[in-house]
Amino acid sequence: MKRISAKNLAAYQAKRKFDHTPEPSGKKKTGHAKRPLFVIQKHAASRLHYDFRLEMDGVLKSWAVPKDIPTERGQKRLAMRVEDHPLDYAKFEGIIPKGNYGAGTVMVWDKGTYVVSGESPQEALKRGKIELHLEGKKLKSDWTLVRMRGLSEPGKEPWLLIKTGNSISALSARAADRSVLSARGMKRIAGSQPRSWNPK
Ligand code: MN
Repeated sequence: MKRISAKNLAAYQAKRKFDHTPEPSGKKKTGHAKRPLFVIQKHAASRLHYDFRLEMDGVLKSWAVPKDIPTERGQKRLAMRVEDHPLDYAKFEGIIPKGNYGAGTVMVWDKGTYVVSGESPQEALKRGKIELHLEGKKLKSDWTLVRMRGLSEPGKEPWLLIKTGNSISALSARAADRSVLSARGMKRIAGSQPRSWNPK
């Protein structure tokens, strides 16, 4: 089975044409905060899902979580590992135009910093069990990402996102559809003019 490698953005870049989508190419180096960043993007692609991303080694390690983020202790959600994304993807909100990979609306749904208990994030990722404390604008609690054994096939690595620690109350409908970047809901983001970018 093939594991997704640490620093390589080749898979991310191969799927996208950066003169056709406003998403960042990952070629720009960006600085980062002392505490590593987490970001969750709500993404209305062919299926609505949440992209769960953790800053590690200068990139965003990424998982796609269908449905929602679990709030009750013991609740589990499938979290498919996807390709590493560039750090500046954490600020990406807008529309991926039709015909492009992941076409649809992207919202910066939550953002903040994270701490891994007991070991370094890199060791936890390698071990396949990341015990997280998120300190976000919406989410301030514990979750654990666990790699599922024996189910991987090349390019597909299923993990589980499990609510650990205490249960938290479900977000209000308003908070559930509100960007922490722009305070917009999905409809407003989808209805906005695509942000201009400058293809060379
Ligand atoms: Mn996505």
